[in-house]
Formats: sequence, structure tokens, C-alpha cells
Amino acid sequence: MHDMHNISRTGSSKIDMGIKLKLYFIFYTNCLIFIMTVRVSELVQYQICPRLVYFGARDNERDQGLQQPQARLRSRIEGFILKELAFNLSRIINCESDIAEVMGDILKCVPWIYREEMCQDIDLEPLRADFMRIINERWLKKLRSTRELELELEHGYERERVLYSAKLNLSGSVDKLIIADEEEIPCIIKTGKSPEYGVWRSDRIQLAAYAMLIEDESMRTVRRGLVQYIRDAEFREVQIRRADRAMVLHVLKRVKRVKQGVFPDRSRNAPCENCAYADICNTRKTFLSVLFGQKQK
Ligand code: SF4
Repeated sequence: MHDMHNISRTGSSKIDMGIKLKLYFIFYTNCLIFIMTVRVSELVQYQICPRLVYFGARDNERDQGLQQPQARLRSRIEGFILKELAFNLSRIINCESDIAEVMGDILKCVPWIYREEMCQDIDLEPLRADFMRIINERWLKKLRSTRELELELEHGYERERVLYSAKLNLSGSVDKLIIADEEEIPCIIKTGKSPEYGVWRSDRIQLAAYAMLIEDESMRTVRRGLVQYIRDAEFREVQIRRADRAMVLHVLKRVKRVKQGVFPDRSRNAPCENCAYADICNTRKTFLSVLFGQKQK
């Protein structure tokens, strides 16, 4: 009887161990999937500088990156305001509100919408005058005459639709998704300067990545997208080409390697002066140079 009891205890502890192992396996696999899922924003970062992806993927280092000097924080906030402006274009074009009223609403909303990114209470009123200078008569005239906004005005858009593809291990949220009849058109908002013609290469790849995510969900081919360079009131249509799709897959592979721990070279035009990771990046560079006796690029 005693032996029977022991046997059944050994049996149940074996079962317990089996369940535990299974749970560990599920937990480990889920963690791996989470770590390995690449965000579209990381594809964009990789093109600016691959090391931004490396540091961004490491929590402690990212925390340090978030301790931003005032100048950097201000430029980020300007970006948030411009982005919100892009979400209010129909109000301006249709003259539902005057521009000062739209700007007032945006300044009130930004601290709520971007609470996580702003980390602290900041008085945005001093920025109002700067923005009223950007949104001058010339800007308004350009905005009202642009043909690329017709689709948005006619069909509206869904804001920041979250997209995910298990097949690609890729996720992202597209700024605007316009659904025109049977066609889905991703649209991204850019707060920096526009190129003279067409769109920047990284914008083209970002759009192609969203197109591929949308296609994986809807099973329909996405043939075009839009880039809204809001600062300059330049709105450009982009055809999604095979080469763009191939580039997405290529960069995706490289980003995964970096997220697995491969420390990458910096890009030739890395914007180091304005980088939140400049200090840790230089330390890391020096450490590796000492370790391997070679110069890191
Ligand atoms: S400091 Fe320069 S090289 Fe380092 S992550 Fe920033 S941009 Fe890239």
C-alpha cells in the first residue's frame, strides 16, 4: 500500500513536471515571438541607423534614451502637433473651423494623446505662434489645391489601424487607412521636410511594409499609398513596386538579426549629433574596439 502510494506520488510528480515543462515551453515560445516580432517603425529606424534598432530593443538602454534634453523633447512635441494637424485636414479644407481654433484644439489634445511619449507636463502655448507661422497663406493655398487629398476627403480614413502578420512576424499601425470602394490605401504622415520630387526611400519602404500587412489581412493587393509631408503641405502618391516589397523582406531579415543581439555598424549618414543613444553608443564602440583591437565603423 505504502509502495503504491509512492508510485502514484512519483507518477503525479512526473505529470506535474510535464505540465511545468509544457508551460515553460509555451511561455518561452511566446516571449520569443514577442521579441522577434518586428515593428514597421524598426524597419524605418534601421534605414536611418541600424544601431537605433539595437539600442531601442534593449529596455534599459531605451530608458536612458528617453531622458531627453529639452531641445530634443521640443522637436518631438512639434512632431506630435504636426501629426495632429494632419488628422484635422478636412476641418481646415472644408472651413468647418478657422485655423486658430483647430490649433487651439490640437494643443489641448496633444498632452492626452501622447501622454506616454511626453512623460511630463509641458506648457504647449508658447509653440502656438511657431505653428501659426508654418500654417501661413501659402501653406493653406497649397493644401486646398492638392489633388492627392481628394480620396481622403471623399472616403474619410481610419486612424492608426493596428496591423499584424504572423507569417512575416511584422506589426505596425498605419497613420491613415483610406478605404475607397474596394481599394485599401495606406497613408503615412511625415513631419520632416519633403524631397523635391517623389518620396524619401525610407517612406517608400514603410508604405510597402504596411501594404504587405494589409494584404495579409484582407487578401487584396495594395497597389498604391500616400505620403503626407504635412510641414510643407506636400502630398504624394506612391505606387507600391516589387522592388519595394523585396526591400522590406531584406531589411526585415536584418532587423531580426540585430534584435537577436548582433551589434551592427552605424549608417554612413547616422544622425549622431541629435541621437538619444549617443552616450551609450560611444561607450559600446570603445568597449568593442578595446576587446577586438579593431576600429568600429
Ligand atoms: S549615436 Fe549615431 S551611430 Fe549611435 S545609434 Fe545614434 S545615430 Fe546611430
